[in-house]
Amino acid sequence: MKLVVIPGDGIGPETMAATVGVLQAASQRFDLNLQIEHEIAGHESLRQHGATVTPTLLEKVKNADGLMLGPMATYDFKDEAKGEINPSKFFRKELDLFANIRPARTYEGLTPRLGTFDLVVVRENTEGFYADRNIASGGSEMLITPDVAVSLRRITRECCERIARSAFELAMTRQRKVTIVHKANVLKIGDGMFIEECLKVAREFPQVEVNDIIVDAMMAHVVRAPQRFDVVVTTNMFGDILSDLTAELSGSLGLGGSLNAGSQYAMGQAAHGSAPDIAGKNIANPFSQVLSAVQLLDWYGRKAKRPEFETAAAAIGHAVEAVIRQGQVTVDLGGALGTAETGQAVVQQLLQT
Ligand code: ATP
Ligand code: MG
Repeated sequence: MKLVVIPGDGIGPETMAATVGVLQAASQRFDLNLQIEHEIAGHESLRQHGATVTPTLLEKVKNADGLMLGPMATYDFKDEAKGEINPSKFFRKELDLFANIRPARTYEGLTPRLGTFDLVVVRENTEGFYADRNIASGGSEMLITPDVAVSLRRITRECCERIARSAFELAMTRQRKVTIVHKANVLKIGDGMFIEECLKVAREFPQVEVNDIIVDAMMAHVVRAPQRFDVVVTTNMFGDILSDLTAELSGSLGLGGSLNAGSQYAMGQAAHGSAPDIAGKNIANPFSQVLSAVQLLDWYGRKAKRPEFETAAAAIGHAVEAVIRQGQVTVDLGGALGTAETGQAVVQQLLQT
């Protein structure tokens, strides 16, 4: 497997270094012959190549079997004309990574905030409010007078249908329950279309139990009883917000892994941002990035019919569970280990089992 690795901004270089260590150990242990190609995007690329992402990089990623992207600081990528494109958005769009799969579960060894649970948020990743500056190809914001801003949200049947399909297919491999999260009582047309398409797909999966819930009520339900949920499917912005909540309920944002998947390509990227407040201190939790790598290896194993990758993915997942059980964790999870040491603990665990 050829894997492009981009460390990203903020805590990215630290969490990605820990993740690469784990990937190399997994490659050795399961004979994966993983070829890692180190590339740059974001600020470093802007400095060296005059753009946060380059066409050459896109080609390299397309010729590889997967991408691991670190977190990108979005706040100062403001002028797309000057090459300041947000790389996360760029790859999601160029590789058509329409499904953002964000698992959240509790772990033995951590005191659960709200009892144990295991769910997955399936977030639409290409449209809604966060799509594109060009309204023809996505959502947009504009000032219509100096004092009036308008934010447009684009919802299409095609994107609703394909995200629904991802959710139902995933549910078939889990507890066979899908919850549709929306705000169709207010956003009658857009979210109305989203529910309609989800329910159409649901008919193809009669074994899957379906229900829907309004996003505000969902916040209360997920805090009251997260164990009620299995697969939760929702539009882009609701999924962004909900998945931060579910990651934190599972113990920490630093446990939030995610896979951005399309029909051809996939990108593993931690669900959180670049966390500049803790960057460079060796205290960030690398598990979100490690667990994103687990999702990517698993995706590749199934796509390329290489079961050893699925085995390796499961083994890394178990190694993370074991080190959490042993309390070898970073401060956000109540431990005392650094980012690099936590990664090392996973490596040790992986090589000794
Ligand atoms: P973005 O706009 O990119 O989503 P954000 O403003 O939502 O970024 P994050 O970078 O996601 O911010 O961080 C939110 C909070 O969670 C910060 O206080 C950060 O320190 C903490 N945090 C994020 N990731 C981790 C991690 N891996 N380990 C520990 N703490 C983290
Ligand atoms: Mg965020």
